[in-house]
Amino acid sequence: MTTEDGSYLVGHGVQVVTPNSEHGFVLDEKLLQGILLRDDIKDLPVVVVSVAGPYRKGKSFLLNFFLRYLHKTCHENISDLDEWLGAPDNPLKGFSWRGGSDRHTTGIHLWSEPFKASLPSGQKVAVLLMDTQGTFDSTSTVKDNATVFALSTMLSSVLIYNISQNIEEDDLQHLQLFIEYGRVAKDKMDGKPFQRLQFLVRDWAVAYEYAYGAVGGQQLLNKLLQVREGQHEELKRVRQDIDRCFEEVTCFLMPHPGLKVSTNEHFNGKLSDVDPEFQKCLNQLVPMLLASENLVQKKIGGHTVKAKDLLSYFKSYVKVFNG
Ligand code: GDP
Ligand code: MG
Repeated sequence: MTTEDGSYLVGHGVQVVTPNSEHGFVLDEKLLQGILLRDDIKDLPVVVVSVAGPYRKGKSFLLNFFLRYLHKTCHENISDLDEWLGAPDNPLKGFSWRGGSDRHTTGIHLWSEPFKASLPSGQKVAVLLMDTQGTFDSTSTVKDNATVFALSTMLSSVLIYNISQNIEEDDLQHLQLFIEYGRVAKDKMDGKPFQRLQFLVRDWAVAYEYAYGAVGGQQLLNKLLQVREGQHEELKRVRQDIDRCFEEVTCFLMPHPGLKVSTNEHFNGKLSDVDPEFQKCLNQLVPMLLASENLVQKKIGGHTVKAKDLLSYFKSYVKVFNG
């Protein structure tokens, strides 16, 4: 199989969690079983990478590059990873993006085909890609959606918080709300409940202050998450909560992908229309998340979670939130 045009991709995005009118969720158990209880998947430890944030901020676009990378590394065993981005004219396939029909659906989507990857130790794992979105346009919608994001936080090993332009105090407060809800459902335990939190700032415009990529991101984050003398109690608490809840917090600053990506309605995702700086950053970011040595296995209460266990956690967490 070649990766020439994207038609190599097996699978599609499926919605597994949908909010209902009573501020609860509906879980599509059949769909989940089909993904997580497959014979070759159910006993593998999982790596759950979730991209979460508001609509229309390029989450699906990004996830489709994750698919491209995982396809190359897991299905084609390509060792020359400089080539993973592919040919300049390939349209971008995968999760529906732009005019996609799921574009305004609050909830959690999964890629229907887990990727079988190997850790450096030789341990096989199943990598699951999750897309979590909701609205953030008023305090009430934030609260309504918080449980969806909390669920995503609890179920993922890597939570990518996808935000536009900058990390504002509001973004941190939303995050605090998600982890607060998340802690309601978790068992009492020692240690930090969640694993990796990756802030991903899109359309970062001030690269002269903090450079694009992981280093600039870390500098911005260090400044932002500092707890200072005299800081307002609430601001302090947000920062302490983030630190208490995640084992690792990182930040990556993405440049604007170029006007063809953001404004041309006929754009099909081909690389030749994507700004080279953006491509360079993708080349840095995606392996930082998905290369064998960087995969983070999902753990709950200190224990490795297998695909079949993840199904049980989905069910029990949804039950807790549905009261
Ligand atoms: P989602 O709703 O968050 O999944 O967003 P989509 O991936 O569907 O993308 C929404 C629109 O934003 C599409 O027109 C994309 O071409 C465009 N887009 C993708 N990535 C970026 C980005 O980094 N910056 C900007 N400004 N637009 C982007
Ligand atoms: Mg989307």
